[in-house]
Parts: sequence; C-alpha cells; structure tokens
Amino acid sequence: MIKNGKVVDLAYSLKSSKGEVLDQSSKEDPFTYLHGAQQIVPGLETALAGLNIGDKKQVTVTAAEGYGEVNSDLKLTVQRAQFPPNAQIEEGMQFETQTPDGQGIVFTIEKVEGDKVSIDGNHPLAGQNLHFDVEVLNIRDATQDELDHGHAHGPDGHH
Ligand code: ZN
Repeated sequence: MIKNGKVVDLAYSLKSSKGEVLDQSSKEDPFTYLHGAQQIVPGLETALAGLNIGDKKQVTVTAAEGYGEVNSDLKLTVQRAQFPPNAQIEEGMQFETQTPDGQGIVFTIEKVEGDKVSIDGNHPLAGQNLHFDVEVLNIRDATQDELDHGHAHGPDGHH
C-alpha cells in the first residue's frame, strides 16, 4: 500500500481542463517517485496514499494543490539591458535566477517588444486544474539511501 517511505512506479497521463495531454508515462517507461518526499504535487500525493499495486484512479487536482495559483508579482517587464550583453533573448526561452534569499526561480520569456522584455516566473502549469489518470505499477520499500536523499533512485542505483 502506498504510504510515506514507499517507492512507487506509476503509469499516468496528465491532462488540462481542455483535455490536452500535458505529460505522461507508460507501463514500459514508468514514472518513479518516493512517497512523502514532496516529489509530486501535494494533491496527487494525497490522492495516491492508500492505493495498492494494480489500482487505477482518476484524480483532479486544483491549482492550489497543484502548481499553485498564478502569482502576478512574478509577471514582470524588464529592460533588455538588464540581461547580459550577449544573452539570447527570444520568446519561450527560460532562464533561472535567484531571489535575494537564494531560492531559484525559472522565468520564461513571454514577449519581446523593442527594449522591453516580459517575463513570467510562474510554473507553466500554475493556475490550472490538473487531471491525472494513474495506474499503480509497483510499490516497494525505499532504501536508506533514498530516504536520506529524499528521492527515488533508478534500477542502476544512484540517479
Ligand atoms: Zn540520491
């Protein structure tokens, strides 16, 4: 049964409210995570607790329990001159920067207009309800290494 300290293999598909497939994993190439380690969005982790091998479940996760609501403070317009002189600046490109307290934030370049660059530091799936279709393929005890690291390791050992 899925609970904290178990490593779980999942086949899943993730769809938007419009029905478009955003992400998926198959039985042949499952997604593996350590339950209770915040490796997956909180709403999905809660919904998977208690399931057994072979169980299938449809889970709708609200934005708040998924990648969070859209934070308008993270939508900014900056001057092109604030980027390094040789930086490539194109719509859709992403770059990582750090907040004053050292937290990494990935920004996506939304729009480039002359000297003005609109950037967005929200997760691409922020503000969206997420529709998961999951099947539990395997459950095992985490190794001590995995518990220490806070994530699952692959069949070949570390990472
Ligand atoms: Zn590790």
